[in-house]
Amino acid sequence: MPVKETTVEIKLKNLKNNLEYLKSKITSKTKFMAVVKAFSYGSDSRVVSQELERLGVNYLAVAYTQEGIDLRKFGIKIPILVLHPQEKDFDEIIENQLEPSVYSFRVLSFFIKALKKKNKTSYPYHIKFNTGLNRLGFLKKDVHKLSGIIKPNLPKYIFSHLGASEDLNEKKYTKKQIEEFISIDKALEIKLGTPMKKHLLNTSGILNYTDYQFDMVRSGIGLYGFGNDIEFESSLKPVLSLKTIISQVHEIKAGESVGYNKGFTAKTDSVIATLPIGHADGIGRQYGNGKGEVLIEDRMAKIVGNVCMDMLMVDITDIKCKEGDEVIFFDDKSYSAEEFSKKANTISYELISSISRRIKRVVSK
Ligand SMILES: *Cc1c(COP(=O)(O)O)cnc(C)c1O
Repeated sequence: MPVKETTVEIKLKNLKNNLEYLKSKITSKTKFMAVVKAFSYGSDSRVVSQELERLGVNYLAVAYTQEGIDLRKFGIKIPILVLHPQEKDFDEIIENQLEPSVYSFRVLSFFIKALKKKNKTSYPYHIKFNTGLNRLGFLKKDVHKLSGIIKPNLPKYIFSHLGASEDLNEKKYTKKQIEEFISIDKALEIKLGTPMKKHLLNTSGILNYTDYQFDMVRSGIGLYGFGNDIEFESSLKPVLSLKTIISQVHEIKAGESVGYNKGFTAKTDSVIATLPIGHADGIGRQYGNGKGEVLIEDRMAKIVGNVCMDMLMVDITDIKCKEGDEVIFFDDKSYSAEEFSKKANTISYELISSISRRIKRVVSK
């Protein structure tokens, strides 16, 4: 069905396909955490999380507390990890049965304070270790002090995050991260006198370092259809399509310009289509001035001039099309978000997670 306005299509059958593919890479004993942060990578957290819960994933992960609260309000029952909680969040985390990632002594003290206030002696949480990404997490040297504090209420899991699992030229760096994680785990086990459950792998980790799946894996981008590698693109299917229509067509003469600050000046007589989507919708200015291309009637049309807030213009001089015709930014068939994003030197993650909430979502089974 052609769209009548700018529309994000969410294909749940592709989500199911991707989940099954990713699960086929791990053993049946390994748990699966679906990462649904950032509005489920720009799709629709509620719809996608509900489907993932129905499909039997064991865990969800969000970045921030409010994302988790929204899912609880919507009725999601499975455990939810909050990857990046802040000081003021801990009361709400506990009230909403969310599991915090505790990544520093500062955060640990907020968590413990909140537990005391609520008269809780035990509560599920995860401890994050920094093994080389240098973003969040305790270091190996913290193990001694940390184990003393956490002994009365042990974490449900410890985890870490790989910084380059998609890059096979960086295997040495990844192996070093893995070794560091294993060594932290051993040190903790000795201090605590009991083994810890662990999770480490993100999507590319699942695909490239399956041996280190431990007790659970965490997948985001793979569920939405991208494997950061051609090898996996045929098995994974994009969940999101972004389409719009041509609002207006202008025939311009050589020498005339298009858009703000005369971003484009026609060398020859040209035909320009205006599309109802702009940088406020997630198609950033980096796609302007000939970088980004969209698909119209199976042909590529370049974005010309500067991307405006709510509109952008494309060159359709050589394409037979008219006002009202459909325009594809990316879909699950001929033109992927990976390809579109590459043209402006960015990645599928940024493109899809930036799709504005004002764009209409249509869900299909
Ligand atoms: C976002 C994120 C993930 C998911 O990574 P993908 O590459 O999308 O699978 C996993 N773990 C952490 C800590 C994250 O921040």
